[in-house]
Amino acid sequence: MKRRLGTQLSVGFVLIVFITVSVISLTANLLIQRQFEKYVADQQKSFSEEMAAALAPQYDGSTGQWNLDYIHGYGMYALKDGYIIKLYDAEGTVIWDAQNHDMTLCSQIMQDIRVRMQEKRPELEGEFLTCRYDLRQKGDAVGYLDVSYYSPYYFNENDFRFLDALNRILMIVGISSIAGAAAAGILLARRLSVPIAKATDITREISEGNYAIRFDANVGTQELAELSEAVNHMAASLEMQETIRRRQTSDVAHELRTPIANVSAHLEAIIEGVWEPAPERLLSCYEELGRISNLISDLEKLSQLEAENMALQKEDVDLTELARAVRTAFEPELERKRLTCTVSGESCIVPGDPKRLLQVIFNLVSNAVKYSAEGGQIQICTREEAQVSILTVEDQGIGIPQEDLPLIFERFYRTDRSRNRKTGGAGIGLTIAKAIVLAHGGKISAESKEGRGSRFTVTLPKR
Ligand code: ADP
Repeated sequence: MKRRLGTQLSVGFVLIVFITVSVISLTANLLIQRQFEKYVADQQKSFSEEMAAALAPQYDGSTGQWNLDYIHGYGMYALKDGYIIKLYDAEGTVIWDAQNHDMTLCSQIMQDIRVRMQEKRPELEGEFLTCRYDLRQKGDAVGYLDVSYYSPYYFNENDFRFLDALNRILMIVGISSIAGAAAAGILLARRLSVPIAKATDITREISEGNYAIRFDANVGTQELAELSEAVNHMAASLEMQETIRRRQTSDVAHELRTPIANVSAHLEAIIEGVWEPAPERLLSCYEELGRISNLISDLEKLSQLEAENMALQKEDVDLTELARAVRTAFEPELERKRLTCTVSGESCIVPGDPKRLLQVIFNLVSNAVKYSAEGGQIQICTREEAQVSILTVEDQGIGIPQEDLPLIFERFYRTDRSRNRKTGGAGIGLTIAKAIVLAHGGKISAESKEGRGSRFTVTLPKR
C-alpha cells in the first residue's frame, strides 16, 4: 500500500522525536534520581554527624550535667525529620531517648516513613538502622549518640514532590516536542507534497494534450524549482512538436498535391483531346512525377537515417576535401547563377562516414545556392579547435526570419518565403543533415539575418 508523503514525513518526524525524547528523558530521569538518592543519603549521614557535633557541647564537665532542654528540643526536631536519637553519657547511662520520651510519636513517624518508602520504593528493601557516634570535648569522650534512620536513605514528602515535578517537566517537554515535530512534519510535507501533487496533475493534463499549460511551483526548494522547470520544458517541447507535426501533415499534403494536380490536369487535357500528347507535355508530367518520387525517396532516406542505430562506416575524413568535392559538384549551378564559392581552411580530419558527411555539406551548399540571389558569394570554411573540427557554410542570400530559425531543422519545415519562391526543396535537407551530424556526436546550428544571409555551423568531435 502506498502512503502519502505527508503522512510518511509526519510519522517519521514523530518517531525520531519520540525515540530521542524518550531516551533523553529516561536517561536524565535515571541519572537525576540516582544523583538525588546519593545526595539525600550523604545529607542524612552528614546530618547525623552534625547532631553528634551539636550535642557534645551540651555536657557541662564542671557540673557533670547535660543541657536537657536543648537536647530535648534538638531530639524532637530531629525526630520530626525521621531521626530517632538516643544519647548516652560516658558510662552508658541513657540521658535522653526519643522512644522513651514519646513512644507513640516515634512509632508513628517510623511507620509513616516505612509505608511511604515501601509504597514508592519497594525495590529498596530499606530498614531503620542505627549508627553510633562518639561525643567528645577536647578529645575526651563525654558520651555517645545512637542515631536511627531509614537506610540506605529515605525521601520526605518534599523530596517526592520535587521528583514528581521533575518527571512532569520531562513529560511536558517530551509531549510538546512530539507535537512540535508532528506539526513541523505536516508543514514540511505540505510544502513538498503540494507542488508534487500539482506537478502530477499538470503532467497528466499534458499527457491528455493540453500542452499550453505551465507549472509554477513557486517554492524555495531547488529540486522542486528544477522539477517545475523540467515539466515546463517538456510541455514547451511537446507543444512545439505538436505544432510541427500539424504543419508537417499539411506540408506533405501540399507537397504531393501540387505535382499530382499538375499531372492530372495534363493527362485529363490529353485524354479529352484538348492537348496532343506532345513530348514536351509528357516531359512536364514526367518531371512532376520526378518531384513526387524525390520527395518519397527523401522521406525514405530520412526514416532510414533516423532509425535507431544509424550504421556509420567510420574512417578518417578530411572535411576540407569533402567541401572541395561538393563545390566541384555544384560548379554548373554556380556558373548558371553567377555565384562564387570559396573553400578555405587547412585539412580537418575527423572520424566519420565520408558519404554521410558529404551529404551534410551537399545539403548546406545546395541551400546556400538555392537561397542566394544571382552574383552572390558562398564561403565554406573549415578549422580545428582543441576537441572539435568546425565547418561553416555562409551565404549572402535571402536569410531566415528569426522566428523560423529554431524550426528549420524540423522535417518539412520551410519558411514561407522559400515556399513562395518554389525553390523545389521539400524541407527535409536540413533534417537529414542534422540527423547525420547528431549520429556523429556533433552539433549543427544556424545564424541568419533576413535579407543579409545565413551561416550554418557544423561542429564534429575529433578523435
Ligand atoms: P528545403 O529543401 O526546403 O531547402 P531544408 O530542410 O534544406 O529544406 O531547409 C528548410 C528551410 O530552411 C528552407 O525551406 C528554407 O526556408 C530555410 N533555409 C535553409 N537554408 C537556407 C539558406 N541558406 N538561406 C535561407 N533559408 C534557408
